[in-house]
Amino acid sequence: MVIAIDGPAGAGKSTVARAVAAALGYTYLDTGAMYRSVALAELRGAEHPERAEILLGERVLLDGDDVTEAIRTPEVSERASQVAARPEVRRAMQERQRTLLADGDWVAEGRDIGTVVCPTAEVKVFLTADDTERARRRAAELGADVEAVLADQRVRDERDRGRADSPLVPAGDAIELDTTGLTIDEVVARIGELAAA
Ligand code: C5P
Repeated sequence: MVIAIDGPAGAGKSTVARAVAAALGYTYLDTGAMYRSVALAELRGAEHPERAEILLGERVLLDGDDVTEAIRTPEVSERASQVAARPEVRRAMQERQRTLLADGDWVAEGRDIGTVVCPTAEVKVFLTADDTERARRRAAELGADVEAVLADQRVRDERDRGRADSPLVPAGDAIELDTTGLTIDEVVARIGELAAA
């Protein structure tokens, strides 16, 4: 069983996906962490960063090095959004993601899980929230300025939406959930209902 949770940055995907996975006993797959790891590999000088070894779990390991915190900086966020636009990077990550999702029960979070990586996912959710609300959440997480986060977010959203091969759009059969004004528990409960249906 695969529950695909897609949507723009700051819509609450990570928090919600982790909570849904914990509630159902499924494994959580953070595909953004893969693109972030590729970005960090490149920032560290790798010539073919898409070939780096990435292990996801409690911690994120990049070629054996614990990069759990290092992949969350604004510099890596910006580079991740750039590397994610490159076809060779997307192909490599999507293939790794498909291999993982082929077996077992997963809650997979990203931008293109329901559309490209796993179109056969049993449950597809597209999470949104209004722009300012998303920026406010990210700023609170990062301890950063809301206006600065909002500006960065707009650039990344535009790049994600404009990508030729895997644009950020809801799958035709995805349930769209606007999380503005909803608590995490409410969103998790709603997805739990969809999974049980
Ligand atoms: O979700 P997160 O912000 O960690 O993702 C980092 C970047 O990776 C995003 O800005 C997006 O460009 C890219 N990404 C993607 N496809 C995914 C997951 C993330 O293009 N499935």
